[in-house]
Amino acid sequence: IKKTIEGNIEFKNVSFTYPDTGIKALDDVSFSVKPGELVAIIGRTGSGKSTIANLLMRMYDTTGGEIRVDNTLLQNLDLNSFRSQTGFVPQDVFLFSDTIANNIAFSADKLDMPKVEQAAKDAAVYNNIIELENGFTTLIGERGLTLSGGQKQRVSIARAIMKGPQIMVFDDCLSAVDTKTEEEILNNLGRVMQGRTSIIISHRISTIKNADKILVIDNGRIIEQGNHNEL
Ligand code: ATP
Repeated sequence: IKKTIEGNIEFKNVSFTYPDTGIKALDDVSFSVKPGELVAIIGRTGSGKSTIANLLMRMYDTTGGEIRVDNTLLQNLDLNSFRSQTGFVPQDVFLFSDTIANNIAFSADKLDMPKVEQAAKDAAVYNNIIELENGFTTLIGERGLTLSGGQKQRVSIARAIMKGPQIMVFDDCLSAVDTKTEEEILNNLGRVMQGRTSIIISHRISTIKNADKILVIDNGRIIEQGNHNEL
């Protein structure tokens, strides 16, 4: 079992039916991604975008076809090692009832404040945080302050940046952020994710301008694939 992931991803004729509902969410999906590439996935609501993320993040096993990471079948990779080297920012952000700093650093062994602050800057949420009376020690969640939807999204992006994984999947996690802030975050991600693989699911055309590859999904299938100029 390989220990370090480089970030090659290959979906080969992948199909998936949700076991509980019997809904066929993906049908014969094939694409590949090289380390360092930014892939954007777009498509209508319910088209299957999140399902691609769910399968790649091993929430489910494929019901047809193969997913390989660095040429190894996903199910043959050690799950803990895989999880530790991948980052997933889900559509529904999850924050703990804890300080903002701990929410950003939650997968780190000890609190490295300069790193936490840099991650917050890269996720364009640093200025919001330092404006709070207690800054990074502000309690959020049930016990404390409620952040706006866009702020929560950016805290969870900061958390993923802090982890620094080889593969990062963003599932529509910039939806509550304005276009200008989104552009800032994407620029920062370009730097942070250099040599690493990023997959961004989005509804916005602006998000995908700089993608190396764009996958257009409709009804569980890839209907177009290419870069911004090609499509
Ligand atoms: P959105 O843009 O609204 O997030 P999406 O393109 O990400 O949509 P998916 O969430 O992948 O689409 O959904 C694809 C299909 O699978 C839909 O028909 C959806 O109802 C179904 N589906 C999604 N998640 C589940 C689940 N956990 N259990 C059963 N069916 C699901």
